[in-house]
Amino acid sequence: MGTVELKDVWKIYDNHFEAVKNIAARVNDGEFISLLGPSGCGKTSTLRMIAGLEEISRGEIRIDGIRVNELEPGDRNIAMAFESYALYPHLTVFENIAYPLRIRKVEEKEIERQVSSLCESLGISQYRNQRPSSLSGGAQQRTGLARALVRPAAVYLLDEVLSHLDANERAMLRGEIRRVQKLMKLTALFVTHDQLEALAMSDRIIVLNDGELQQIGTPEQIYDTPENLFVAGFVGEPAMNTLAVNRTKNGTGDVLAIGGQKVAARDMKLASLPDAESFIIGVRPKNVVLGAAAGCIRGKVHTFEVLGDFTLASIMLDSGDLIFKIGDAGLRLSLDEPVSFSFEPDKVLFYDMKSTRRILTGR
Ligand code: ATP
Repeated sequence: MGTVELKDVWKIYDNHFEAVKNIAARVNDGEFISLLGPSGCGKTSTLRMIAGLEEISRGEIRIDGIRVNELEPGDRNIAMAFESYALYPHLTVFENIAYPLRIRKVEEKEIERQVSSLCESLGISQYRNQRPSSLSGGAQQRTGLARALVRPAAVYLLDEVLSHLDANERAMLRGEIRRVQKLMKLTALFVTHDQLEALAMSDRIIVLNDGELQQIGTPEQIYDTPENLFVAGFVGEPAMNTLAVNRTKNGTGDVLAIGGQKVAARDMKLASLPDAESFIIGVRPKNVVLGAAAGCIRGKVHTFEVLGDFTLASIMLDSGDLIFKIGDAGLRLSLDEPVSFSFEPDKVLFYDMKSTRRILTGR
C-alpha cells in the first residue's frame, strides 16, 4: 500500500514567506503523480514536507492513512532520490544499490536477486563492478535511482532526477522509470519543472504556481482543458494561443472584435460562446486552421520552420498578437505572406478576463 494525503498544507518560511499555500491533494496507491511548476513555485518544499525534511507549517500530511507531521523521516516509510546523485564514491555500483538492503540485514541471495533485477531494468548491469567516478552522469543518475527504488517503501519521492542529463538520456530514462514504477506498482511523487516530462510520465499531474495549486488532472485533462491561463501557458510547446475578444451587438447579431479585426459571431463558427462581453479564447497551435472562408482572421506569416514531422508558423495579426500554428510536414509558407485562419470550433476554450479561469469549453 502507498497513499499520500495533503490536507490544506502550508509551508511558511521565517514566519512570513508563504512558499506553499493551502495545498490539498491525494496520491492513490500505485499512482505516479508529478508536481509540475516553474522554479520557486513550491514543488521541492512540498516534497520535503512529505519526506519529513521540512516542518509542516500548517495542515496535515498522511501516508497510508497515518498522520506523519510529528514523525521523523526514517519513520515515514518513504524512499527519496534527489537531483544530485549522492552516491558513495568508495563503493561499486552494485554495493551502492545494495547498501539500503545490507543495513536492513537482507540475505545475500535476495540482495543479489533484487539488485541484479534493478540493474537490468535501469540498464546499468554492465557497470555493476565499477565505482561511480568512472560513470557518465546518466549512469550515476540511474544508480542513484536504483538505490532509492531497491528498498520497499510506501511512497517514492523523486526530485528532478532527470536534470543534468542530455535530451536523449532523459527521454530514455523517463520511459524506464515509468516502466519500473508500473511493473513494481510503486506509488511515486515526481518533481519536475519540465511539462513534457510530466505529460509523458504521469498518471496525474499537480500544477503549482507561486505556492498555489492550479490544477490536478490526467495529462489529457491538463493539456486539453487547462483550468486557467497559467496552466494553458505553462503546459504545451509552443504554448496555447490566447486572444482577447470583445463582443458587441449590431442589427444582425453579435460582432466579435478579435486580434484588431471584427468578425460576425455566426461566421466565426465557434461551437459555443460564453455569456460575457469580453473574454479570452485559447486554442492549441494544432487546432489553428488555414483557409480563406468567411469568419477567418487575417494576418501575415511572421516566422516559419520545417521541423521534420511537422511545420511551425507564427502569424502576426493587425493587433500585434502572434498566433502559432502547427501544420503538416508538407506545408510551405513564405515570410510576410498574407494568410487567413480560423479555429477548429469544438477545440476553442474560453477564459474569464479577470479571474483567468476557464468559463467554457468549445464542446
Ligand atoms: P526549484 O525548482 O527552483 O527548486 P521549487 O518549485 O522546488 O523550485 P521551492 O524550492 O520549494 O520551489 O521554493 C519555493 C520558495 O520558497 C522559493 O521562493 C524559495 O526561495 C523559498 N525557499 C525554499 N527553501 C527556503 C528556506 N529554507 N528558507 C526560506 N525560503 C525558502
